[in-house]
Amino acid sequence: MLMFNFCNLYSGSSGNCSYVESVNSKILIDCGVSCKKVTEALNSINVDFNLIDAIILTHEHLDHVKGLQVICKKYNIPIYANEKTFEGIKQNIPEDNKKLFKTNEKFEIKDLEIFPFRIPHDANDPCGFTINHGDKKISIATDIGHMTSSILSTIQGSSFLLLESNYEPEMLKSSHYPYLLKKRILGPNGHLSNEDAGLAISSLVGSGINNITLGHLSQHNNFPELAYKTVMESLISSKVNLDKLSLGVASRSEPDSLINIA
Ligand SMILES: [Zn+2]
Ligand SMILES: [Zn+2]
Repeated sequence: MLMFNFCNLYSGSSGNCSYVESVNSKILIDCGVSCKKVTEALNSINVDFNLIDAIILTHEHLDHVKGLQVICKKYNIPIYANEKTFEGIKQNIPEDNKKLFKTNEKFEIKDLEIFPFRIPHDANDPCGFTINHGDKKISIATDIGHMTSSILSTIQGSSFLLLESNYEPEMLKSSHYPYLLKKRILGPNGHLSNEDAGLAISSLVGSGINNITLGHLSQHNNFPELAYKTVMESLISSKVNLDKLSLGVASRSEPDSLINIA
């Protein structure tokens, strides 16, 4: 029987890191918290850091790469990213550990097939990932300024989706954030709002995706309950069939439990 598991270790503007495993492979997606916190989170699901095969990176923003330097000092671990993302990372990664992929070209890590797809976000060459194993597909799509038809068709048919639901527009507009930061987040290369996540999910549930976790929530401009409620309202008003839907919200500061995909 296929074994394919996903675990959100940390998710949000203060640090992102998730974990995917099959029988033969264990990988991390991003590493935006300290090495110590990643180690603690892995321990909580009984995984030894020494067994991690690789880390794959979506983009160079600090909330996705913060722990890398210490991790690279402690562990001899391959780090996968595209060229421009590596150029943007300020931290020290040994050249030997850098593994290049190209956005929109699939690559393999052991028995996982990984497809990095382009996303609209203000980084050098940001991407989301689909990770295929057997006939199952996990999709990770965060840091998305606006949803595109290309992203929707790439993640269609996923067995599990981690989708950004970053902010509630009114909370953001009335927040203490400086004008330019608000403009950036609201703009086409910033982050995805709860409403936009709801609209995207309404179309994806129709395509058969039933296991979805909302992630990368803003610490100041969102609440887990609000993100959930906004998305559910959007689904109800679009009259999609919710019978099989499992919708969760990723926790920000502690690991969630392992989700069995297969
Ligand atoms: Zn980012
Ligand atoms: Zn981010």
